[in-house]
Amino acid sequence: MCLNKNHYIIPIFVPHEGCPHSCVFCNQNTITGERNVVDSQYVRDTIETYLNTIPSANTNTIEVSFYGGTFTAINITKQKALLAVAQEYKLSSRINYIRLSTRPDYINKYILEHLRSFDVDIIELGIQSLDDDVLIKSGRGHTRQDAFIASNLIRESGFILGHQIMIGLPGDNEEKDVKTVEDSIDMKPDLCRIYPALVLKDTYMERLFLQNKYEPYSLKRAVEVTKLLYCKLIAEGIKVIRIGLQTTDAILPGRDIIAGPYHPAFRELVEGSLYCQMILDYIKSSDTNYSIAINSKDISKLYANKKEFFNDIKQQCSTRKLVVNIDDSLQRSVIMIKNDENARILSLNDFIIRQAKEGKINNS
Ligand code: SF4
Repeated sequence: MCLNKNHYIIPIFVPHEGCPHSCVFCNQNTITGERNVVDSQYVRDTIETYLNTIPSANTNTIEVSFYGGTFTAINITKQKALLAVAQEYKLSSRINYIRLSTRPDYINKYILEHLRSFDVDIIELGIQSLDDDVLIKSGRGHTRQDAFIASNLIRESGFILGHQIMIGLPGDNEEKDVKTVEDSIDMKPDLCRIYPALVLKDTYMERLFLQNKYEPYSLKRAVEVTKLLYCKLIAEGIKVIRIGLQTTDAILPGRDIIAGPYHPAFRELVEGSLYCQMILDYIKSSDTNYSIAINSKDISKLYANKKEFFNDIKQQCSTRKLVVNIDDSLQRSVIMIKNDENARILSLNDFIIRQAKEGKINNS
């Protein structure tokens, strides 16, 4: 599977369909921003609308993704109707992949056979945490054992496995988040998403928060913890395809987000902090001026959160000049750093792997 710049996703949001659970953090309609009736006609119309704006599947990767609720808990007739439309597009080579998300306790070998018969490729499991106490306090209704069993079944059946992890849930802490990611890595997912828990309107977590029984992570703490988890996953070659909740019309601070570590570019905070850590690590041993060249598409990471991290390293190197230049001949995720003596290319990925190997990614 190639997740490159020509990878297009056609999202079909299936809000709260078939889900009998009440996770404390979930207001599914708010999360998806979707109020439409999702039936086979809706799936067809959505795919057609997107395909009208996407170049051909012969030269690009196009994926239909069923997000939102617990797909494999939907009424089986409806599942078949929705999947049949996606399968039709896949069989006619107008799309390449079919993805869906579900819960660990709605996976078994019969469900997987059914998904296989509709040519589903990618199954993302909302494991959220692998700490049973956190799972109970979050009202998940499944155990860590369920996540292990489902993940193994998915992998053994040849599907691409994704894990969705939520940090900062009730009863959670950094150590538990780290353990969750380490246990997730043991299950060898192909990809992962990390979401900091937010207090959404009309959820049980809102009540807990208003009664002072739940304290969400601060933004700073969420970035630090996510950075740690991100590095561990990247160092193991696991793609982190999303960090932080996607902004939709329905997810706006002050409206549906009551509290918690929301930032519209949360991933940039994590990556920006790592860029600056990499630069500081390189320049700290020398007392000369430096110039940094970076691809224009990465400059927002270097300057994330109104230059918070960049200004921090400038302050730590106050006796030296640090000049930044744009150079689009550089690849993404690398920088060229120069002083009077030499020039070096620094790769963010290599930095993360080296930090992980040297055990420098600590839970701070
Ligand atoms: S299982 Fe998913 S859809 Fe159902 S309540 Fe929990 S988060 Fe919401």
